Amino acid sequence: VASPGQLLLLLRDGKPRTRADLSTATGLSRSTVRARLDALLLAGLVSEGDSGVSTGGRPADLFVFNTRARVVLTAEVGATHAVVALNDLSGTPVSVQRLSLDIATGPEVVLTRLVQQWHDLLEESGIAPNLVAGVGIGLPGPVEHASGRPNNPPIMPGWNGYDVPARIRIDFDVPVLVDNEVNLMALGEHSAAYADMDHLILVKIATGIGAGMISNGRLHRGAVGAAGDLGHIRAHRASDTPCSCGNTGCLEAIAGGSAIAATLRSNGLDAQTNSDIVGLVRDGNVVAGQVLREAGRDIGDVLAACVNMFNPALIVISGSLAQAGELLLAGIRESIYRRSLPLATENLRIVHSKTGDQAGIIGAATMVVQQILEPSTVDRLLV
Ligand SMILES: [Zn+2]
Repeated sequence: VASPGQLLLLLRDGKPRTRADLSTATGLSRSTVRARLDALLLAGLVSEGDSGVSTGGRPADLFVFNTRARVVLTAEVGATHAVVALNDLSGTPVSVQRLSLDIATGPEVVLTRLVQQWHDLLEESGIAPNLVAGVGIGLPGPVEHASGRPNNPPIMPGWNGYDVPARIRIDFDVPVLVDNEVNLMALGEHSAAYADMDHLILVKIATGIGAGMISNGRLHRGAVGAAGDLGHIRAHRASDTPCSCGNTGCLEAIAGGSAIAATLRSNGLDAQTNSDIVGLVRDGNVVAGQVLREAGRDIGDVLAACVNMFNPALIVISGSLAQAGELLLAGIRESIYRRSLPLATENLRIVHSKTGDQAGIIGAATMVVQQILEPSTVDRLLV
């Protein structure tokens, strides 16, 4: 039996439907559909329009998910920057701001910046704070998702075990969900661009290298939120380069942004940041292009093993170094197609991200909306 929450779940695909459509889709009587729609209309979660299509008399009313009923506050926090936004209930960003910050200044400083920015965005958009339905935050390290506490994050001094939701609820007393930023990028890319792909891996290639995995249409976090740590798998290309994690020869230590910049400098090129690398490659610098393609091959070698293990239908390449263009992707493809089993690569697609630097905030909103509009939660709300 379709409860009001399940009726809403049906409408959340964004397609407008008539009462007759909903009756057919759910098997509910017209009068039951009418009663449930009335409850959803009253709560503001569904709005009503005119189809203009006559069904033998007056036009049939159309009902559609009201994505602007509430807003979700979101942030994707990296090591040195953050994307802060307001998103609607479809996950779409309605107002976005980019900030420079330093994750190493600790949770009090960073979270206070986010809260201030959300207040500013609400004010600029003329949205009342009581319309905030939830908060979603992505952080650059492992997070215990159930509690919202970072779990031994290597680049985040002062954050280990910190109660992020409790801090945010001082300002916004709503559900606060926290996850690793790459997990949220995978969720965002999946929901906004590839909702029909049940098995995908998103790889973020920036200063570090990490992955988020969608398995059976759902985010795969692993036992303690540590899944997808691609950067600290040992690279195939032999190396004793020390890594930030304490090991040597990790993929990140030879193919991450810092490693690529160091290789370029040793070739006499001026490269400090990821945007320096992207700039050199885009300007057609041959050495920079070769180094980036080689990094792609290194990443592809490790991904080839993941392809055999996980059998994704899609690999999405994202992160600031993905902006350098086709050479990185070409190197990745080269290794994967050479090293993976033919059956696993038969229909495998390897593509650039469609959501770009908004993937994380779209994913953060999706995570929150999945929880607050979960059918049983909606049903309790409407009683
Ligand atoms: Zn490492």
